[in-house]
Order: sequence, then structure tokens, then C-alpha cells
Amino acid sequence: MTCYSGKVWDGEGFSDGHVIVEGGRVVSVGDGMPRDSVYVGHIMPGLTDGHTHIGDAGLRLDRRYSLEELVAPPDGLKHRYLRETPPERIESDMRDYARRLRESGVARFLDFREGGVEGAGIIRRAAPDAVVLGRPVSKEFDPNEMDALLDIADGVGISSISDLPGPYADAMADAAHRRGKFVAIHVSERVREDFGRVLSLEPDLVVHMCEATDSDLRACADADIPAVVCASSNVYFGRVPPLRRMCDAGVSFSVGTDNAMLAPPDIFAEARFMSRIAEEQGCPDSAAVHALVAGGNKLLLSRRALRGKEWDGLPVITGEDILSGPVVRPN
Ligand SMILES: [Zn+2]
Repeated sequence: MTCYSGKVWDGEGFSDGHVIVEGGRVVSVGDGMPRDSVYVGHIMPGLTDGHTHIGDAGLRLDRRYSLEELVAPPDGLKHRYLRETPPERIESDMRDYARRLRESGVARFLDFREGGVEGAGIIRRAAPDAVVLGRPVSKEFDPNEMDALLDIADGVGISSISDLPGPYADAMADAAHRRGKFVAIHVSERVREDFGRVLSLEPDLVVHMCEATDSDLRACADADIPAVVCASSNVYFGRVPPLRRMCDAGVSFSVGTDNAMLAPPDIFAEARFMSRIAEEQGCPDSAAVHALVAGGNKLLLSRRALRGKEWDGLPVITGEDILSGPVVRPN
């Protein structure tokens, strides 16, 4: 049993206090700094990486690619890589990447998993703690495939309304809703997409929103749909997340590291990158810290099955500079 004191996250912000950790779990949280405590900087719950694709962790890029060349289904480089690489290899690369994510302070992550039922099974074996958002592979919607996918996955990760026939997206979302599972979708990453149409799918969360208009962002905030921002991925593809406009519209956003082939498994590095953009755009000071600590965990609140206690998962302890990354992960 160890007592750590410092600035403790209370769900809204940090205040002076302490936590007692036993067996890697926080067993109590209190005010003040007991004399036998170890002083650290900031203490917060295990973090949630809001958007990953860890299936491509083993893909090494030989040059710079456009969004379409790299990730557009079905024939972008990444999709060819996923088809042509032995599943055992994908699984071991995923396992390694997920371990490094955990070491960076991530207690859970929401992964858009390609490859249908088989793909969902691979990530379940490689990373049992992942929130798996799968997608079917059949050209025509197949309810039996969808059922089998949802037996394994926590929900669906829809690539976008632009690259899928409308009835297919509707059927995916309906199936997930019927089973009480997540519906997540990439929105307005490269071009603006009709947000009214996105809302008709009743998503639990949206990813990107780079090209969203102010009215899209307000509609997102009004519907209380959280967004995941993947700043370094957006900038790689020549986009910039509209953080200031998201703040002004009242959109709740979190941090996503996105494609593993592009991003190191380091959510703090991603949050630092977000904080630089937030500062350039004149967002409130705490925007990136709030996205990191609170935003990700908010993504999971909409699904009862995944609703956890505030301190579920290993606590994360950083230094005086929160964004410098975990300095202690008690276990
Ligand atoms: Zn994505």
C-alpha cells in the first residue's frame, strides 16, 4: 500500500489531496497530504485513447502518402497491407503496440478494427482491454455477419458516410443499436459531410470533424455527442482540427492517436501536440488537459456495459507538468 499526494483529479479539475494505492488500484482518495505520502505532481485515472487503428502497427511507410492513397477502403495501402499480412503477424504487432499504449498511461482505447469477424477476433486476443469497434467485410449487408461481428465487438466503427452506401451505414448502425452497442464514425475528415445525415445514425461518438462547419459543431454539441480529435494524424494529412471552434460551440472532445503506422503509442505526446494547436488557436488553457484526462473517459459513459467508476484502471501519475507523461504507474 502506497500513499501518493499531489494534485488529484476530481472529475472536473485538479485539487490538493492524496490517493492510497493497493495492488495497482486506488482504494481511497482524500484531502490533505499525509506525512507518510510520496509527493508527486498530478494524479489521475487511467486514460482513454479515443481513437486508434492498431491493426496497422507493423506497417512501415517508405514515403509520404495522401489520405486516399493510405487509408481509403478498400484498396488504400493500409488495406492491402492488412489483407496480405499473415494474421499471426498482425496479432503480435498489435499485442506489442497495445502493451506500449498501456505503458504510456492508457487504461483503455477505442479501436476501429478492420477485417470483419476475423479482424475483431484478432484484436480480442491481442488486446483484451480494447473497446473493439468492428466493421463487416461483405459487399452487401449481411445480418448474419453483423450478428457474428457484434458477438465479438463492442460496436461498429463506420469508416464514413462518404465511402459506404447509405442503406449499408443505416443497417450497421441499427444492428449495433439493437444490441445496445456503440456506433462510432469518422466525420468530415477530408471533406465536409452532411452532419444531419450523420446524426440520423445516432452515433455515440464522432471522430475528426476537421472540415465541420460551425453549425455542424453546434449540432454535435446540442446532441451531446463527444468528438475524438486526432491532431497529429490530421496534420500529417494536411488538415487542422478546429479546436477553437469546437470549444466555442461547446463540443466535448478527447485525444486519439489514430493510425498506429503514423503515431507512436504515446497519448501524452499526442496531447502535447494538441495543446500546441489549442494554444495557437487561442483555446482556453486547460483544453488539451481536459481532453486528455476527462474527454476520453466521457466517451464510454454512453454505454452502460462499459461505464466504469472514475478510478477504474490503474491510476496515472505525472510530474509538475501534466503533459510530460506518466512518471509512475503503480502496479
Ligand atoms: Zn480512424
